[in-house]
Amino acid sequence: MSRPDVMTTSILVIGSGPGGCVSGTLLAEAGHDVLMVEEGEHLSLDAAPHFSREEMLRKYRNGGVSVALGRHKLAWVEGRCVGGGSEVNRGLYRRTPDYVLESWRKDFGVDNIGTHSMKAHFTACEEIARVEYVPGTPSEMSQRLQRGAQALGWQSTEAPRLFSYDPDGNGGRRQSMSETFVRRFLQHGGRLHARTRIDRLRRVSGAWIATGTTKDAAGRSQPIEIRSERVFVACGAVQTPALLRRSGITHNVGNSLRFHPMVKVVAEFDRDVNAAGDLDPVHQIKEFEPSFGMGCSISKRPMLGVALSDRHGAWDLVQERSRRMGIYYVQTTGGSATVRNLPGFSDPLVRIGFTADDLHVLGTGLRKLCEGLRAADAVRVIPCVAGYADVASKRGVEFMPSSLDSSDGSVTSVHVFSSCPMGENERRTATNSFGKVHGADGLYIADASLLCTPTVVNPQGTVMGVAHRNVLDAIERRFG
Ligand SMILES: Cc1cc2nc3c(=O)[nH]c(=O)nc-3n(C[C@H](O)[C@H](O)[C@H](O)COP(=O)(O)OP(=O)(O)OC[C@H]3O[C@@H](n4cnc5c(N)ncnc54)[C@H](O)[C@@H]3O)c2cc1C
Repeated sequence: MSRPDVMTTSILVIGSGPGGCVSGTLLAEAGHDVLMVEEGEHLSLDAAPHFSREEMLRKYRNGGVSVALGRHKLAWVEGRCVGGGSEVNRGLYRRTPDYVLESWRKDFGVDNIGTHSMKAHFTACEEIARVEYVPGTPSEMSQRLQRGAQALGWQSTEAPRLFSYDPDGNGGRRQSMSETFVRRFLQHGGRLHARTRIDRLRRVSGAWIATGTTKDAAGRSQPIEIRSERVFVACGAVQTPALLRRSGITHNVGNSLRFHPMVKVVAEFDRDVNAAGDLDPVHQIKEFEPSFGMGCSISKRPMLGVALSDRHGAWDLVQERSRRMGIYYVQTTGGSATVRNLPGFSDPLVRIGFTADDLHVLGTGLRKLCEGLRAADAVRVIPCVAGYADVASKRGVEFMPSSLDSSDGSVTSVHVFSSCPMGENERRTATNSFGKVHGADGLYIADASLLCTPTVVNPQGTVMGVAHRNVLDAIERRFG
């Protein structure tokens, strides 16, 4: 092994997702010497078509395949590139509901958190990464969900997006981190090293030493050692606890990983709802939150093929009728997981458990979703769960199991959090109320790991708002 490249910085930010980018940018703007390192590549938003196989290979961890193991498995995905998840997601945006913040205050002892105190942080982030509603009429697929909800008297709304729409409604540009905060970070003198993975942190003579590897464009690895006064760990809710645990920091780290588990269905209509070039669907049914929510997924042909893959003749069906089909989902907050490292493996082992109640909520949500889509005039709804029958009538919904009774990987997720919760209740938390790791000088967590519980709504707004709040607090206190 060659000798490591040695670097120094005042502040090291590890990971460049929304948490890392917001933190790094504010630190750089405040005049600090900041180095942000990112394991993945630095790619433009257009480097691969959105939701393509190429995008999964270049911008996702493990090409988009990560699995939490347990009696009921869960498949999830994480971004791995400069900008993290923000580069691959749709940017559906919500501020954190008041009741979620209140539970963090009450159950985890998070100081000074609430809708009022968070408002300035949300607003500041929304000014840099724009949040907009569709300027004209949302896509037909989206409107169908809305129509089903209205027919049943359920509450539903359009979710705004981190997106800059063309005023004519013909498209626009996602407001990912690489388009927004990363630029600002670089403009303010921040240094960014992509293809650089940190494996361990250790404290030596009052400084942090981060060790890992950096790769050149040809993929050749070189060991590195970065010395810094302060470290902000923002590797995402799975990789952050993995890095901390490898570094011997384990107090309430990686014991409480949570997801928004999701089950999908394909609804088939008697007319076209899914034309090439349609804007991404944006409606969500809020009626049953916080128990479960519902929404629309991207429904390009390859996604429909994957969603129906266990059905006989799926590809022919998709070939023939994809324009009349849309993918919809129900999303809950159940299940709890642990993150542990295994000797010799770079990815941690994630073990998940669901209670009977969690499975009941998923089952109930799936039935309600089918009911809503039938009310939207779907001729049939095909649950993406092995062994489940198509639903083509009211009776079909009644025959569905009341609990999700499948363990075949039909449960997926794109939202992960809560592995290192923040708050003053040290029995339950890994950091103080503002992300400073208990008992570790100069060490902060700055990503979705800190969120004490699932957000119920799309989480990126919360990740950004909390990072903004925490880093301003650290700057104001001079990191004391
Ligand atoms: C497909 C998809 C769709 C989504 N849709 C939405 C949506 O519409 N709305 C919404 O609000 N949220 C959505 N999300 C979730 C949202 O993207 C995440 O909540 C958010 O990105 C989390 O930010 P983060 O900073 O915690 O971590 P991440 O975004 O996961 O970023 C962490 C970064 O750290 C890097 N890293 C990890 N380990 C190391 C290491 N050891 N050394 C160096 N770098 C490391 C990773 O490569 C990654 O780039 C979606 C996510 C996905 C994957």
